[in-house]
Amino acid sequence: MGLPRHWAANMSTVKEHSVFLKPLRSISPTTFSAIKKCALNVVWRRNGSPPLLPTSPKARVGTAAHKLLAEAGQGRLKATADSVNTRWHELVEEADVAISRTPLERHLAPLDSSVPDIEVLRIRATRKALDIACESQTTPRKDRSHVTPPSYGHEIPVQSTDRLVRGTIDAVIRKDGTGIIIQDYKSGSIVELEDGNEVQPKKPYQTQMKMYAGLYAENFGEWPASLELVSLTGERLGVPFTKNDCLNLLDEAKATLKRINEAVEYHPSSSLPPILASPSPEACIFCQFRPACGPYRLAAAKQGKEHWPLDVIGTVESVRRLGNSRMMLSLTTGTDSVNIPGLSPGDRHPALLNLKPGDMAGVFNLRRSRPSAPYSESRLTTVHKLEQSTLSA
Ligand code: SF4
Repeated sequence: MGLPRHWAANMSTVKEHSVFLKPLRSISPTTFSAIKKCALNVVWRRNGSPPLLPTSPKARVGTAAHKLLAEAGQGRLKATADSVNTRWHELVEEADVAISRTPLERHLAPLDSSVPDIEVLRIRATRKALDIACESQTTPRKDRSHVTPPSYGHEIPVQSTDRLVRGTIDAVIRKDGTGIIIQDYKSGSIVELEDGNEVQPKKPYQTQMKMYAGLYAENFGEWPASLELVSLTGERLGVPFTKNDCLNLLDEAKATLKRINEAVEYHPSSSLPPILASPSPEACIFCQFRPACGPYRLAAAKQGKEHWPLDVIGTVESVRRLGNSRMMLSLTTGTDSVNIPGLSPGDRHPALLNLKPGDMAGVFNLRRSRPSAPYSESRLTTVHKLEQSTLSA
């Protein structure tokens, strides 16, 4: 009898992504924010490179929440609590099915168990979606026509005249006397601490909002009076802007798109990682391509690992089953010998079955309570057998 398919899928050796990379046709405000963190991540993602680490269950629920709000804005939900709730449960169930079919994430299903505050998120998301569904019903019929793009309402598509920058605005509200308000809904926190401990809207969100303002003006010939980030709790936070800020960001986005596409066109895909990568603890910690990313490894190794994701990469010394039936993987990293005890046995880490002394391996998304404490497995911990070449950029 062969191995279960989902085991085999997670047992193959990870190489630096070698898919043929194609240029990006356009850029959205969200993509531009992501490119500012790391262009390699975006180019790999947009070219369909498979993720090598799990998506966090909370992010899955956030995606379901955003989808619910989008459907409400598109007028696809009946404006009743029952229909919004039913749709929420369908979306979470769809996410559960997707997770169960993903070898890296199947142990995280169902989301009801792996996201402790899912009920809080449900209440907030469905409440907001119901508001939007009600507003969406009262949007004047002529502006909801699909013949010409609507200039206000929900889910308003916008693009630059050269079509290089495009996106969809969550909500455009037109108020007599105050002018147009552009809103963007966020399922997580919308603020960050600036130097000096002042709370401000997250910088990537500020960039996105300003780009939406510029695109809106380009499409409809009218500048918004204000920009607002709206959280699921109903918190609203204004984003200050000037027209010049917005126009400069659109120019910057187009120049960035051109620079990336030139790199993709003029270099073989295998030489692109060091050209496009911008490794940093902030960018790499959320990146699902770390196991295949040489520039990340080099940067994290050079900078001493502090603040970087808790990953251990090295040569396998041994794989042992412990008395408590958990597994222990011992790796030599070049400077240290590292034991990683407490790894789940069975199909949680299929790659463990395939490792032998001398192989290269990586254990990603570990945790520990303090720098000198032993590593332990988190819900997102993933083991991969690695090809030697992924260790160099
Ligand atoms: S691991 Fe870091 S450097 Fe590599 S693609 Fe991801 S974000 Fe970029």
